[in-house]
Amino acid sequence: NVGKISLDQIDSLSGKSFPLCMRQLHQALRENHHLRHGGRMQYGLFLKGIGLSLEQALQFWKSEFIRGKVDADKFDKAYAYSIRHMFGKEGKRTDYTPYSCMKVILSNPPSQGDHHGCPFRHSDPELLKQKLQVYKVSPSGINQILELVKGMHYQLACQKYFELTHNVSEDAAFSLNHPNQYFVESQKLLG
Ligand code: SF4
Repeated sequence: NVGKISLDQIDSLSGKSFPLCMRQLHQALRENHHLRHGGRMQYGLFLKGIGLSLEQALQFWKSEFIRGKVDADKFDKAYAYSIRHMFGKEGKRTDYTPYSCMKVILSNPPSQGDHHGCPFRHSDPELLKQKLQVYKVSPSGINQILELVKGMHYQLACQKYFELTHNVSEDAAFSLNHPNQYFVESQKLLG
């Protein structure tokens, strides 16, 4: 499905069809005009997976970074390479695939100033709760999600968030194991 997404769709898609991990990365990028390496990898590969071409990806990251502390020249020198790399155009020419939930949950935990990771696994439950309130999840829905988080069922918590935000019942849902799968399932219902 390469090339089916236009860059000006990303803001609205992030609110409707991105899982929480990617919504959080998108928001942080828009707010800070920057993401650190772990975030660029997690989010960049996800965007590639939803159909952004290399040219679109370069334009997307550049237009945001140059609104912050990075000028166009520095972007081309310091960041463009790693984006081309992500698409297998540099280095060993590995065509990197987007990270699965297990990879996001189990490897490279975020530190202070990072926005990558899985919010169900890595966010403080109180902050997660506030975020879910802002995203208009009902109080009973929030409790169900937090119970699953407490039991360390992070992907089930994410799936519950999907059900609640897409108005589908548990039986109609799928077994979540990948952020890009979340996106595809969401687009089937809303797209
Ligand atoms: Fe993202 Fe997977 Fe965590 Fe959901 S469970 S927020 S898709 S990493």
